[in-house]
Amino acid sequence: MRRVYLCALAAPLLISAQDRPLTSLPYTPSLDVSFIDRAVDPCQDFYRFACGTWNKQNPIPPDQARWDVYGKLETENLRFLWGILEEAAVATAGRTSNQQKIGDYFSACMDQQAVERAGTTPLAPRLAEIGKLARVSDLPVVLAHLHLAADDRAPLFAFSSSQDYADSSHVIAFAFASGLGLPDRDYYVNTDAKSQETRARYLEHIVKTFELTGDSAATAQSEAQTVMDIETALARASLTRVDKRDPYKMFHKLTSARLAKLTPSFNWSAYFRALGIPAQAVVNVTEPKFFEEVERQLKTRSIADWKTYLRWHLTREQSRYLSSAFVNADFDFYNKYLRGVSELQPRWKRCVRFVDRDLGEALGEVFVEKTFTADTKGRALAMTREIEEAMQGDLEQLTWMSPDTKKQALAKLHATVNKIGYPERWRDYSSLTIRPGEFLEDVDRAIIFESRRQLNKIGKPVDRTEWEITPPTVNAYYDPQMNDINFPAGVLQPPLFDARMDDAPNYGNTGATIGHELTHGFDDEGRQFDAHGNLKDWWTPEDAKRFEERAACVVKEYGQFTVVDDVKLNSKLTEGEDVADLGGTLLAYIAWKNATRALELKPIDGFTPDQRFFIGMAQWACGDERPESKRVSAITNPHSPLEDRINGVVSNMPEFQKAFACKAGQPMVRAEACRVW
Ligand SMILES: [Zn+2]
Repeated sequence: MRRVYLCALAAPLLISAQDRPLTSLPYTPSLDVSFIDRAVDPCQDFYRFACGTWNKQNPIPPDQARWDVYGKLETENLRFLWGILEEAAVATAGRTSNQQKIGDYFSACMDQQAVERAGTTPLAPRLAEIGKLARVSDLPVVLAHLHLAADDRAPLFAFSSSQDYADSSHVIAFAFASGLGLPDRDYYVNTDAKSQETRARYLEHIVKTFELTGDSAATAQSEAQTVMDIETALARASLTRVDKRDPYKMFHKLTSARLAKLTPSFNWSAYFRALGIPAQAVVNVTEPKFFEEVERQLKTRSIADWKTYLRWHLTREQSRYLSSAFVNADFDFYNKYLRGVSELQPRWKRCVRFVDRDLGEALGEVFVEKTFTADTKGRALAMTREIEEAMQGDLEQLTWMSPDTKKQALAKLHATVNKIGYPERWRDYSSLTIRPGEFLEDVDRAIIFESRRQLNKIGKPVDRTEWEITPPTVNAYYDPQMNDINFPAGVLQPPLFDARMDDAPNYGNTGATIGHELTHGFDDEGRQFDAHGNLKDWWTPEDAKRFEERAACVVKEYGQFTVVDDVKLNSKLTEGEDVADLGGTLLAYIAWKNATRALELKPIDGFTPDQRFFIGMAQWACGDERPESKRVSAITNPHSPLEDRINGVVSNMPEFQKAFACKAGQPMVRAEACRVW
């Protein structure tokens, strides 16, 4: 007895209550008045009012950079998926092929001892291939092999497929800028003290990683400098994130002759052969200036420099899957230093995420079966249609848009496809081999499988049924070239979408998100695509000008928000999201009013129906982010900080101010409110 008792006491040190699989998803209501901080005046700071107590009760866990309602739900989903995976890992006779794949991949990943024993052996074949490079002209073949096996930030540049901007029904080859180890080109070019410090720390991290692969300190030091020099040159030639929001700046279809002329030192035919794809007559080179720099680097750098650069990127990319020395070094820089996270995520969490990434629709199919009902799907679809109707009514009555542009806008709205829950056709993983006890090999095969799947699309008609995120994902997106909105099963559950709650918080929360995604089709980026997803200007010049003036109001307003310390929000980067937040909330409000017109709504828990709409809308965003992580977000995240996403919206809405009887001059009442939709 005593022994058991002691074990139970000791257990939480190793495995916390969070570290157990869930057999069912816990219920959290979409509006909870206990999250409210009643000491705060809603007209002074609505976000603190709606979320103050949630934020106090939910400190950021040590393994997270940010923590919010979405993150908490995501963690619950991961724990639920963990349970599915443990079950699938048991080799029963009746396992389906997909169950075998997800189960064996997961248990191989969980076998940390095997990973430790393997050390750097899994890197050996690719390191040897890099080591054999004799001339710069041999680079294309090695690069192609590394590109096939890279999950993110491919070395030098990235190559894949995407829809033709001019003809969204066709998929063509794309060559993108890439090749950086830091999260954005800004880190290499900014001159402030913090950016200089980050570069110094990054350099140290590269040194450490080279040392882990067996290099001496002196060698590692000079190698790290070579990497930094190449990456800095590439960064200087890369577009900013704001520039990349303009599709015209990313659209340069080059014939093979022009591509060869752009980069004469790179043998594209050899590269395509090594990728296993036919010669490409046309490639969209998203950033020709970047490829001019690639050419300059190829011409001036020695093969020794390239070997160093490729070894770094291979090791950086693979560190996550290697022994703990590599995992910890990678964590120390990218999570601890850059984002302020104090603890590495437990292994189970990392492993569930890898399965979700690599076999997401095999795992997602089980998730959907267990959590997503036809009733939820029906309700979500019905709400989407109501919000589309609200948008139609809103567009029809807009005073700043002419009838010609309105006609096109309505055509685009009517053509928007609603994808709810999960794909109509599940991805076929039959050609992907997953074997028990082969974690690194499984990862490699899965990533190559995905790279080839993307490359195989080139030259074929687009598959409009495809999803870019997996069913358990707690997120949603709009795709301007598909002209579709995508709401996976993972995001359509409490506390975001809650069948047990009244309409007000549901419309305020998920309704506003549906509105948000719909208006993305009409934001600074999305409005440049037509109903079919083609890059085509359908606006009269006057209407375009009036749209830009209205959006500029939002950019000016959000540009005054501070992200952290002296870092202001880059509101040109967040413009699309901010306009979508504002428009989405308004559309949800209109749709909610329409849907409940015939009902006599009563106050609940002391709050009027209108107040409940806005509290529900704010409570999706309860949460916080570490200051270090806020700095990364200020550069890379197109979304504004959580509190600005709420206060920025309500301070522009007379509907909110009326609901809470706010007065002119109070912070949540803007003297000059912005309104686009
Ligand atoms: Zn968005």
